[in-house]
Amino acid sequence: MQVAVETMQAAVLYGKEDVRLEAVPVPVLGFGEMLVRVRTALTCGTDVKVFRRGYHAKMINPPALFGHEMAGDVVLVGDGVTKFRAGQRVVAANSAPCDRCFFCRRGQQNLCEDLLFNNGAYAEFIRLPARIVEKNTYLIPESLDYKDAALAEPLACAVRGLEQTGIQRGDTVAVMGLGPIGLMLVRLAKYAYGARVIAMARRQEQVDRALLLGADEGMQMGAHATLVPRLKAATSGRGADIVMEAIGHPDSWELATLLVRKGGCINFFGGCPSGTKVGLDTGLLHYSEITCKASFHHTPAHIRQAIGYLADGKISAKQLVNHEQPLSDLPRVLHEMAHRRNGQIKTAIIP
Ligand SMILES: [Zn+2]
Ligand SMILES: [Zn+2]
Repeated sequence: MQVAVETMQAAVLYGKEDVRLEAVPVPVLGFGEMLVRVRTALTCGTDVKVFRRGYHAKMINPPALFGHEMAGDVVLVGDGVTKFRAGQRVVAANSAPCDRCFFCRRGQQNLCEDLLFNNGAYAEFIRLPARIVEKNTYLIPESLDYKDAALAEPLACAVRGLEQTGIQRGDTVAVMGLGPIGLMLVRLAKYAYGARVIAMARRQEQVDRALLLGADEGMQMGAHATLVPRLKAATSGRGADIVMEAIGHPDSWELATLLVRKGGCINFFGGCPSGTKVGLDTGLLHYSEITCKASFHHTPAHIRQAIGYLADGKISAKQLVNHEQPLSDLPRVLHEMAHRRNGQIKTAIIP
């Protein structure tokens, strides 16, 4: 099966800071696969990281089609596809687990030994592999537009990250780092869990944005020496019940241990540059019974939960997607995001 056109515009990642728009063949479908016309693809911190570095060991090896957060319309279904038909609005996750390996059988599908990744959202069309069609593609609820729906993937990571901490209603949650993921954590902690949220970031404009989106208090992060006492003062001297580190820097992982209360939980959510290490105060971790967690990726159940939160309006694109550009501008957008701080949270790329 094929669509009427034979080539499409797509972004191809060639290496470090080298993304080119090219005419490439429209994918031909195999058994169980589906072709989706991309209506919105969203930029993501991970893509910016990959753009800077030129590859991602787990997710993408160049030359390769690029982009992983998207929503669109089914245009063609391959033989054997029964769940979907042409014309439907869908959002697909960027991976699907095998559901057979050691980890999948224990409900840790995010750690699947054979996690199948899919890239190619920055294109006119994207081919969804059979396993993703079967296990991790969803109809978009009517109330959502494509931009909202495309948030499902990053939001699922945030949902899982908070769930890992055992968060309870009324907990005080300190969110360190207020990029798109940090802002999602703020919204979720506040509106899905009824927590009190203290939002922290290096720049005051980021803190202000988090306050607008629902954070109860904001703190600009400067020297540890001043941040720790400020946080303690705001938490009856104890520290936060939960600290979500969404920066991804060894220094802030270490700082997180000084912000959490006795018996509290830290989630080292932000991935640090590979090869980096942290030095943690063993006495502090031991005598204060601090639980340290880390989160990677999502599972199909978390994608479904994320779509639920989007559908009931707890989080939406109007809070997180503040730019829109045509596909042809993608290289410039990625370059700007990698080198300048120009206030972009997420950009909607419209093919
Ligand atoms: Zn992403
Ligand atoms: Zn598996």
